[in-house]
Amino acid sequence: MSGPNTDYDPVEVAAVQPEEVDAAREAALAAIAAAADLEDLKRVRTEHTGDRSPLALANREIGALPPQARKEAGQRVGRARGEVNQALAARQEVLEAEHAARILVEETVDVTLPTDRLPIGARHPITTGAELIADIFVAMGWEVAEGPVIEAEWLNFDALNLDADHPARTMQDTFWTASSDRTGPADDVHGAGTGVVLRTQTSPVQARTMLTQEPPIYVVAPGRVFRTDEYDATHSPMFHQVEGLAVDEGITMAHLKGTLDHFATQMFGEGVTTRFRPSYFPFTEPSAEVDLKCFVCRGVDSASCRTCRGEGWIEWGGCGVVNPRVLIACGVDAERYTGFAFGMGIDRTLMFRHGLEDLRALFEGDVRFTTAFGSEL
Ligand SMILES: [Zn+2]
Repeated sequence: MSGPNTDYDPVEVAAVQPEEVDAAREAALAAIAAAADLEDLKRVRTEHTGDRSPLALANREIGALPPQARKEAGQRVGRARGEVNQALAARQEVLEAEHAARILVEETVDVTLPTDRLPIGARHPITTGAELIADIFVAMGWEVAEGPVIEAEWLNFDALNLDADHPARTMQDTFWTASSDRTGPADDVHGAGTGVVLRTQTSPVQARTMLTQEPPIYVVAPGRVFRTDEYDATHSPMFHQVEGLAVDEGITMAHLKGTLDHFATQMFGEGVTTRFRPSYFPFTEPSAEVDLKCFVCRGVDSASCRTCRGEGWIEWGGCGVVNPRVLIACGVDAERYTGFAFGMGIDRTLMFRHGLEDLRALFEGDVRFTTAFGSEL
């Protein structure tokens, strides 16, 4: 210990007393150990090593000690400050590591979690199917024509040589628009008489085209049509047709056959052709049913084929040479021009193409179905 010194003022230099230094050191070490996070440690550092901390105060007061006491006091304070700084550095390191680990956990992105991104959906197979069919004809130089689904009775029937007493005009087949201002026998018998129908076929588009364009005419008309059918696996009161009409000089049945064979091949693959069976339609003469060669068995060993049920052929649509009466009704010179027309169901064509068993799958709006067919066709 130091010897007697008159300048020694025990009160003024109390901070350098061994107990005081030890107490300050212990308090600092305890506070450091208790610091829970980096923010806490920063506060502890200021409190225990800052300018106004007991140890800084003690350090400053060493100079006030008599020379013989300075060395011992200096070593004691220096050791205490060293220990505290070391503890601070060690604690800092631990807390920084903890902080980094916690950030890693808190900010982890689990890439396997399902996202809430909306699925992009798909275009409906009927839309893409109708476009594919239109493209086949556009590639041959045809035009795509459209018409209203609410149609004049005259264009839907009369212009197409369907007489007033034709069975297709009765309530069994046709949706007539409601009559608010007309009553009469026709309404009572058939519900007819408003003169306006939901079109039962896409053929009025042909009539509209002939009425507005001069031949040569080459148009294909895909569209929605309506009939009062029950809704079941093979019928729907609303379905889709595609019709084609060619009017030009010298058009024959052979042009019709070649066109439909090309259509079938483009739609169902090389080697898939058509055959005609004699039939009757009011708007064509001669008329034929069109069969498609079964695109699954190709007519070979068809007995076990489920697609054509052993026939080797599948009913596809109707066609024929345009009846001159239709040409005349639509203002076309029937002496100079002839034409052919055909029509088939788009829905039915898609059912063949994709092996669908139930027509309703096309109309029920199930996005799982649409997505499966919507991206390609
Ligand atoms: Zn077959």
